[in-house]
Amino acid sequence: MTSRKPSARARQIAAFKAETEDFGNAFDRERERTRELEQHREEALYEKACASKMRYATKGEALAAIARCEARGTRGLTCYRCSYCGGWHLTSHHYPKRDAD
Ligand SMILES: [Zn+2]
Repeated sequence: MTSRKPSARARQIAAFKAETEDFGNAFDRERERTRELEQHREEALYEKACASKMRYATKGEALAAIARCEARGTRGLTCYRCSYCGGWHLTSHHYPKRDAD
């Protein structure tokens, strides 16, 4: 049994290949765009998590700073080891649910 199916199929394959190439290019562009976005997000994270904050060399210094803040009435602070600079920064930690003290 013969029909026009083979040539229709060949057209389909050609169309599929063209589509796949387009898709590949779009994928490259998307990947490039994603990389730029990640770069910007990374810089924003760095700014927020490190550059804009006070830096403490040790956890002890950070804890002392927290104690000073608490003495002035600022509660809920915690400190973390920064993955950017290796120092310590303070951050306010708000627990969504918290029982009364
Ligand atoms: Zn830092």
